[in-house]
Amino acid sequence: MQLDTIFAPASGAGRSAVAVVRISGPVTRDAVARIAGRVPAPRQATLAALRHDDTVLDRALVLWFPGPASFTGEDSAEFQLHGGRAVVAAVLRALAAVPGCRPAEPGEFTRRAFLNGKLDLGAVEGLADLIDAQTEAQRRQALRQLDGALGRWVEILREDLLAALALAEGAIDFADEDALVAAFEAELEALVAGVSRRIAAELDREGRGLRLRDGLAVAIAGPPNAGKSTLLNALAGREVAIVSAQAGTTRDPLTVDLELGGYPVQLIDTAGLRDTDDAVEREGIARARARAASADLVLWLHPADRPAAPDVATAGTVWTVATKSDLGAGQGGDHTVSALTGSGLDGLVAALERFAADALVDGEGAVVTRLRHRTALNAAQASLVRIGAERGARDFELVAEDLRGAVAALAGLVGQIGTEDVLGAIFARFCIGK
Ligand code: GDP
Repeated sequence: MQLDTIFAPASGAGRSAVAVVRISGPVTRDAVARIAGRVPAPRQATLAALRHDDTVLDRALVLWFPGPASFTGEDSAEFQLHGGRAVVAAVLRALAAVPGCRPAEPGEFTRRAFLNGKLDLGAVEGLADLIDAQTEAQRRQALRQLDGALGRWVEILREDLLAALALAEGAIDFADEDALVAAFEAELEALVAGVSRRIAAELDREGRGLRLRDGLAVAIAGPPNAGKSTLLNALAGREVAIVSAQAGTTRDPLTVDLELGGYPVQLIDTAGLRDTDDAVEREGIARARARAASADLVLWLHPADRPAAPDVATAGTVWTVATKSDLGAGQGGDHTVSALTGSGLDGLVAALERFAADALVDGEGAVVTRLRHRTALNAAQASLVRIGAERGARDFELVAEDLRGAVAALAGLVGQIGTEDVLGAIFARFCIGK
């Protein structure tokens, strides 16, 4: 099947110094020749005047990447343009006029890279995470994933399962020879147990991998007027870099993403959780509420002179924080602060950094960073658990069947076999041009 040639801006929308437009597919060479007047040497930045209908659109750098040694595996090219909107628009119009060229769908370049075997599904997800990464730890985790950490891990398990499958088939073929079957069975049992143990260990660590992607959730709770919003603002405004704030109302952020010691932390302001008629705000509040309910850490605030015992339902850790210490000493909590004078804030931030590092440091080695991974591993694990009983009953046909099931679950994890809807869901998350 002859694929279309696709094109899209690969850099962000809006005005910028340089904008990148990428092209991939069979007629890329023609498109470059037509617009740039010639096809430059492979992988060398070459300055050229871009033309359409005898008009010069821009003087730009042109890069030509013949397949298969390109990101997508197809013939592809890049125009590095001056970043004005009109320049980009004119070049996109020129490309649209080339027969066989059409604008790309979101994630379509990456999908082609995947289909051409340039990336496995774990790496595709790593690439998506790398584009979204906001903190150092997230960047490192995403890069490991892009480097194929998940694929390598799965490959080792798969080899052991295929070896076990060969043994199960041997036990079927030589069913009459008891000594041989016993030897096969012992080896098979050891292989399956080893794989099962490694999957269980990864599933145990999985929480950390997921949290590293999403940020550690820290909820700020306490009675009205305890100083929740003020503390959030003080934390967000002082020692820590705000990565992004999601507005609840036009004035108050509900959640603030911070980078603490390189780790992602999401502060949730439960004071911002109010009743509202606005549908968008309601959705934001519902999310913040759910996130607060499952927070990793709850800061329970009360004024220093008015102690209040923590009143929150959470499976996470609770720290009491005595606020407004400038108004006079009273009963202290785990931490005592004044958002007004700044007293105690450094200590609180340092404690939060230690908490984040303890909770997340292991997550960087985790290969399971998404729900999809957990689902596949659980399916593989369920097959392996059944094998124990089947082996006991000497039913090696069923053992072989379940080993194939486990191998298929692992293959689905890296996309060696994948249903179209799983692939669709993954690639739709990308922006156009990726
Ligand atoms: P929330 O309802 O828990 O979010 O509480 P707010 O952050 O809105 O604070 C309630 C009131 O306490 C406001 O008038 C704040 O200015 C005041 N307040 C908050 N923190 C401090 C503090 O450290 N010192 C003093 N003196 N007043 C504070």
